[in-house]
Amino acid sequence: MKIKYINIVGLSLTVFLIGCAQKHSLETQNTQLNGDKLKIVDCPAIKVTDKCEITNTYDKNKPLWIFGNVLTQSAIYTNGGIEIDSDGIIQQVGCIEAPKDAVVLNCSSYVISPGLINPHDHLKYNHNFPGGQNNRDATGNISNPYYLLCNDPIKANTLEVCQNYRYDRRNEWRKGLEGKPQILAPDDAFPNTPEATANEYKKIVWNELRHIMAGTTTVAGSGGYYGLVRNPDVSTMMEGLVTKNQKKVDYETFPLGDSSNVTGLNYGNCNYPKVVTTDVLDNLIFLPHVAEGINDYAHNELECLSGNGNGSVNVEASNSTFIHTIAANPMDAQNIKNADMTFVWSPRSNISLYGNTAQTVMYDNIGVRIALSTDWTPSGSINMFRELSCANEINSNYFNNHFTKYDLWKMVTINAARALGID
Ligand SMILES: [Zn+2]
Repeated sequence: MKIKYINIVGLSLTVFLIGCAQKHSLETQNTQLNGDKLKIVDCPAIKVTDKCEITNTYDKNKPLWIFGNVLTQSAIYTNGGIEIDSDGIIQQVGCIEAPKDAVVLNCSSYVISPGLINPHDHLKYNHNFPGGQNNRDATGNISNPYYLLCNDPIKANTLEVCQNYRYDRRNEWRKGLEGKPQILAPDDAFPNTPEATANEYKKIVWNELRHIMAGTTTVAGSGGYYGLVRNPDVSTMMEGLVTKNQKKVDYETFPLGDSSNVTGLNYGNCNYPKVVTTDVLDNLIFLPHVAEGINDYAHNELECLSGNGNGSVNVEASNSTFIHTIAANPMDAQNIKNADMTFVWSPRSNISLYGNTAQTVMYDNIGVRIALSTDWTPSGSINMFRELSCANEINSNYFNNHFTKYDLWKMVTINAARALGID
């Protein structure tokens, strides 16, 4: 029986991913998966290989069979296989057997996962240095010297200057408000002038390649480049992604219109330069940055996008996905759950900028669907593997392993697909 992968795992992935990703201990998985409704299916033994080995010469006109530890929504198939036809469509997944003359890639010691989905990045900025180490301004000077100095935990706790090197909300670092250092990150990866050279495009191509190298096939990144990862927020870069009425994701960094006009401190009112209207819900998914920060001003953004208060617009709906939403309390999270929304978590970027991240365990206890994302290189991760590593670290060091490995994997596959309306 020929079954498309899409039918088995419920993901809208016609392009496979494949990544002989990481060496992986199934013993660990068995332990960590206790309580999850996930089967481990042991398929008949295959030849054990240290590295992936190919038999017969690869031929793009013939199906490719890949064997290893196959991850799906409902089961892990040890010694499982995937058959990909010559059109790139996955035809079979599970305990399968390849014909004798087939082209087989045997990755018995590796994990084979659906392509990772990154629901939040800024692809035009990812050629900038990580702010945490060495963020430089246009003239080559370190734009926030406190980062270097205060990343040392002892100095962070003893030096007075380090009391002020983290931020409380987004516009503080964007504009250097409250006397804090501005973080500068030029967005010159994507040329917007007719005389732009091919060389300039290379920055954004490189940024997408870095995601592909980490097994990522889709990035909502406020732009992109045709021909590499799929960009569901750019209608000309969906690249085979089929969506309802071919609608796209409405990626919105400034749903309150405070990109350049940031002089007013909004708290207790919604007098922002330009608050979105509910028309944004006509999109496949409305994907705004909301409440990026840890103080009342950050929380006020959530108030003004959830129908609470004078001038507030309620855009909490099943096709809304909020990014960051750090300054949310349990009542906010309950409203997000009630609207059947997904919350996009960027722990590395949040902690780098604000010294804290969203109360992700609280979100999960309330039942909110959580997806993981990189944000951008100035404060976040270079790719999804790195962000997964950060999420794993905070989960084990601070969340008492609240999330299983399966939970973390869902954040970059199933939940991320739902976050972008492509599940
Ligand atoms: Zn962002």
